[in-house]
Amino acid sequence: MPSPLDNPFLISANPLAAELIGLDRSELYTEQFVNIFSGKQLLANSHPIAMVYSGHQFGSYNPQLGDGRGLLLGDIHTEQHGTWDLHLKGAGKTPYSRFGDGRAVLRSSIREYLGSEAMAGLGIATSRALCVIGSDTRVQRESIEKAATLLRLARSHIRFGHFEFFHYNNQPEIVKQLTEHVINQHYPNWKNDAERYYNFLQQTVINTAEMIAQWQAAGFAHGVMNTDNMSILGDTFDYGPFGFLDDFNPAFICNHSDHQGRYAFNKQPSIGLWNLNALAHALSSLLNIDQIKQALAQYEPYLVKRFNALMQKKLGLKQTLADDHQLNADLLTLLQNQRSDYHLFFRQLCNFDENQSQHKLRDQFLDRRGFDEWAKRYSERLRAENSALEQRQKAMKRVNPKYILRNYLAQQAIEAAEDQQDYSEIERLLLVLQSPFDEHPEFEDYAKAPPEWGKHLSISCSS
Ligand code: AMP
Ligand code: MG
Repeated sequence: MPSPLDNPFLISANPLAAELIGLDRSELYTEQFVNIFSGKQLLANSHPIAMVYSGHQFGSYNPQLGDGRGLLLGDIHTEQHGTWDLHLKGAGKTPYSRFGDGRAVLRSSIREYLGSEAMAGLGIATSRALCVIGSDTRVQRESIEKAATLLRLARSHIRFGHFEFFHYNNQPEIVKQLTEHVINQHYPNWKNDAERYYNFLQQTVINTAEMIAQWQAAGFAHGVMNTDNMSILGDTFDYGPFGFLDDFNPAFICNHSDHQGRYAFNKQPSIGLWNLNALAHALSSLLNIDQIKQALAQYEPYLVKRFNALMQKKLGLKQTLADDHQLNADLLTLLQNQRSDYHLFFRQLCNFDENQSQHKLRDQFLDRRGFDEWAKRYSERLRAENSALEQRQKAMKRVNPKYILRNYLAQQAIEAAEDQQDYSEIERLLLVLQSPFDEHPEFEDYAKAPPEWGKHLSISCSS
């Protein structure tokens, strides 16, 4: 059972997530809502469970993890938006809390709330967040912090680590049962297919590759890609010390505790495959080695193909020509050398006019010649497909966001919440991040380049 927070109050509720589970907006601002999502009151028909799982953390196997500070309250079936798990994070101790207190701090809850909604706004598969509830409960971390709860919605809470747990505990029957469960829930068409276990692994490979291609194009670093944080459906999951790029630095490490840079931005594609190998190993009682190899072999080509396609769109190109890959690679090298802001560059590129000899963007580059050379190639490439400026601009602005949850923006919202009990910054950010491609003239400041101090905030794993 959840352990309720002391004197809970609503910090923020998310109408878009409410819509997904058929909850009316008016129900978000009631006492009952706060009571339910702070652990004081149970929803009708809810039988909370803490799930057990294990997983590879920073490359080493940890045989016993599990929901140590969260409970699955149940799931909701909707006509329009499918089935959603409701998971209450920060609900107190469970059998899997180990040495932890079962709580989530306000800071991390706000980050997950904004982070998952920002990803959804960008159109990337992700868990969602319904609300953050604050309280008078205090918890000890590096210092005393405020405890909160976050209600997470996800299509599934089954992780790679669930399969590992039963595999390494020599329970192949349960691995099979769990696999059948995921197939029945999410891939019902394969129910009677003799190849269903293979299909399942293959689909997980593809979904994971798709997710990571999206992360790389969107400039998103997850930060803790342990196998227990990988959703079996390939949805972005378990938001901890994640970060969006500011300057284009491929070796960006967002997690302060990741000293080796195992989960650096540019390592994510190979870690994705590493994690899939760990999953495949856990499924080795269901599949032979050739099937496993065949499924895993699809990862890299799929990811590369999808990443190139996404970058193609960011560049506003409709056709695919042989040299496009090089044009993109050379641009990324230029951005890296110039320490250009990844998101600002692409948003400004939307206004690029191949018929002008001087480009506004040029002023941002110290290496003007480097930019000019690239701009000339890009202009020629646009002409090669008779690209129409206005149409292109419109299309590019649907894939190159104006608003990004930069670390310093999240930090400002957290500080206002922690120090002044001012939660309005969370509301404003939520609004722009949920429609990040649109213009929000009153929030122009959020679209500016980050201040220098804002680029070097260190985010730790502290839960
Ligand atoms: P995470 O870093 O959120 O992926 O968590 C890794 C593991 O540590 C999971 O099994 C969590 O349930 C557990 N955990 C993290 N924080 C706490 C906490 N405050 N109390 C109990 N367990 C925790
Ligand atoms: Mg986790």
